[in-house]
Amino acid sequence: MSKLLSLEEEPPSLAQAEQRPVRKPASDSNAIPSLGIPVQLARAARARFVVSTASNEFRKRHFPGIKTAEWNDWRWQNRNRIRSLEQLEGMIAVTDEERAAIARHHGPLPIGVTPYYMSLIDPHDPGQGLRRTTIPTLAEFDRTPGEEEDPLGEDGHSPVPGLVHRYPDRVLLLVTNFCSVYCRYCTRARLVGASGERALRKADIDRAIEYIAATPAVRDCLISGGDPLSLDEERLEYVLSRLRSIPHLEFVRIGSKQPVVQPMRVTPTLTKMLRRYHPLWMSLHFTHPDEVTPEVAEACGRLADAGIPLGSQTVLLKGVNDDVATLKKLFHALLKIRVRPYYLYQCDPISGSSHFRTSVDKGLELISQLRGYTTGYAVPNYVVDAPGGGGKIAMLPDSVVGRDGNDLLLRNFAGDQCRYPDPDGTLGKP
Ligand code: SF4
Repeated sequence: MSKLLSLEEEPPSLAQAEQRPVRKPASDSNAIPSLGIPVQLARAARARFVVSTASNEFRKRHFPGIKTAEWNDWRWQNRNRIRSLEQLEGMIAVTDEERAAIARHHGPLPIGVTPYYMSLIDPHDPGQGLRRTTIPTLAEFDRTPGEEEDPLGEDGHSPVPGLVHRYPDRVLLLVTNFCSVYCRYCTRARLVGASGERALRKADIDRAIEYIAATPAVRDCLISGGDPLSLDEERLEYVLSRLRSIPHLEFVRIGSKQPVVQPMRVTPTLTKMLRRYHPLWMSLHFTHPDEVTPEVAEACGRLADAGIPLGSQTVLLKGVNDDVATLKKLFHALLKIRVRPYYLYQCDPISGSSHFRTSVDKGLELISQLRGYTTGYAVPNYVVDAPGGGGKIAMLPDSVVGRDGNDLLLRNFAGDQCRYPDPDGTLGKP
């Protein structure tokens, strides 16, 4: 395993958290934007969380006897993740290729799918986007030139375990290697789910925080993993409160897919705790419009109501979301649930990802088909995260045509040429 994470024996929020009585939320009512999907509301206080009809039917079929209250308990969702071929075979028509890939797989990035997220997966269509991103195929074992286990060079920028310091003024704190759902294109495939599922040792968290405290240039910390919202409130609050006590740290961000794959994780207890640590921002990882369900709308509504600005990160994936209709549908749906589409990432060249990677031309073409054709808020920044730790590079369609005297000649979204008076400029000169 990479030296970046040295992990604790006890899993985060699983063995310990499962023993704990579930606390009753103070209140959890939120208006849910109309998504045009049938829903029901459970009655019990703990379960007062929206359940879509599709998920409800899936629960009854595959988890008979499980009450809505249990289904809506994120710890139950963790305990009952789909981890094996046998479990999968009972839920979907597994193809020979998927079966062979599962049999061949070992090491990090195991299969892991929450029952909730499984309810969104098409049992009969192996080409469905969400299925392709969660169930392995043999293409994962293909290696192509330029691919790396650690394409972003994170391990080489780690001054202490669990911390990546790549940019002068910000750091990345990896607090766990656990995710409740493992994405087959994960940039940290080398780390997540490796050697069991573990949180960073407290001693290492303390060392990382001491490093930040001793580095005044660091003004921003992104807490990631694995998925930081898989930690229970106590552990997460420990990290947040220690970070918040550092005077030069201006703000903290959390990167998470939990609200998407396990939306019931966003409990009133969690949001009540998070709102004590503002300014706190959150980057949510969305892939496809099928993920924007009533449950996810409620989770995002709770986070937004707690005053947390929400941005999305989407990886551009071949055959999953690399067409303008899918992206537009996703970005419009995100705006309706108060999530600002922020980054569209060119897929990193991790080992075994060639079946997911589009050309960069394709990404630019998609951005040109969005920019000007929809609300600016619905157009994310398309970026390539430069291999080797070069950082994010914004990719923009060419808009400068040239110069005519004092006028800068520009091309607009529709391809028309426009003039901008720019007598002091040099841009566009041959
Ligand atoms: S949720 Fe994030 S860290 Fe976890 S497997 Fe998916 S991409 Fe990787």
